[in-house]
Parts: sequence; C-alpha cells; structure tokens
Amino acid sequence: MIAKDRIPQTLITETHIRERVATLAAEIAGTLTGEVMLVSLLRGAFMFTADLVRELSRHGIRPRIDFMTLSSYGDGTESSGKVVVTRDISDDVNGRQVLIIDDILESGRTRKFAHDLMLERGARSAQIAVLLEKPGQRAVPLEADFVGFVIEDKFVVGYGLDYANAYRELPFIGYFE
Ligand code: 5GP
Ligand code: MG
Repeated sequence: MIAKDRIPQTLITETHIRERVATLAAEIAGTLTGEVMLVSLLRGAFMFTADLVRELSRHGIRPRIDFMTLSSYGDGTESSGKVVVTRDISDDVNGRQVLIIDDILESGRTRKFAHDLMLERGARSAQIAVLLEKPGQRAVPLEADFVGFVIEDKFVVGYGLDYANAYRELPFIGYFE
C-alpha cells in the first residue's frame, strides 16, 4: 500500500525527460507523412502529449489532436486485464495516419486494444508512442513503435502517471522504495 502523502524517489529527472521527448519527436517526425492524427490516452498521457506535440511542431508536424480514455487498471497497482472505452474520440480516423500516445506499456493490452480499434475504424495506419516501457511484461505480442524510456519493473508515478489519482502533477518520474 502506498500512502498518498509520501514523496516518491526520482527515477527520471525533468531535464532528462525534456531531452528525451525532444529526440523522440525528431524520430517520430521523420516517419510521419500526410494527414496525422494524434490520439492521446487519458489520463496518464496528458503531460507527455502536451510536451510531445510542442516538440513535433518544431519539425513542422501539424496534427489533429484528440483524446480517449481506456480503463483497464482501476485505482490500484494490479492490472485487471480487461479494457473498456470510457471516453471516446470525437474525430473521424478514417483514412488518417494515427499515432496513439500512451504513458506506459506494461501488459500491452491497452495499446493493442487502441491499435485494433483505430484500424477497425478505417485508420490508414496506427502507430504507438509510449513514454515508458517495462520489459518482459507483455501479455499480447505487439510492441510500441516509439519508446521514450525502458524502465525497471517498478510502479512509477508523476509526469501524468498516478497512484489512486495522486502524483500526476509531478514534473519528474518517481517510484516508491
Ligand atoms: P497495459 O500495457 O498493461 O495494458 O496497461 C498499461 C497501463 O497500466 C498504463 O497506461 C497505466 O495506466 C497503467 N500502469 C502500468 N504500469 C504502471 C506504473 O508503473 N505506474 C502507473 N501509474 N500506472 C501504470
Ligand atoms: Mg494508461
């Protein structure tokens, strides 16, 4: 159990995040052509998305931006394994190149669900960019196209990521001992 008033240890600093998001944006921009639509998965990816789109803009990327909420985790630290859409995008993805933006890839269920849903709806392609990836945890065999940082198997918070809806506001990524 993690008490909400505990301060997490730093795993990735604000500076390190900023530098990596900039290089990641350059990497992503090099692969994007035509009409791009970004689908950001709330709530965890909001801060990463805000920083990533500003970096992408330096490379001339002018995307449509929409948001979707998928739920699979509840309020605790154990994945339930089931994914449901609790808030859908309002833009049409048909014929568009979609880039899904997520906070962290663990089992891969959320990402696979979003990926398949975009293609079912007629997206021309559906790539995924995740800020963080925990290796060796995949329940479904589909990897992310762009990964910010590969981290150890620790429960992390901050920079959009929560524990029971706390800690999202932190400018760095932290963990609890
Ligand atoms: P999966 O890849 O298992 O489908 O789902 C990943 C989702 O589980 C993430 O989008 C995030 O909401 C949650 N998650 C997985 N690992 C962590 C973690 O270490 N910290 C936090 N805050 N959320 C996590
Ligand atoms: Mg998530």
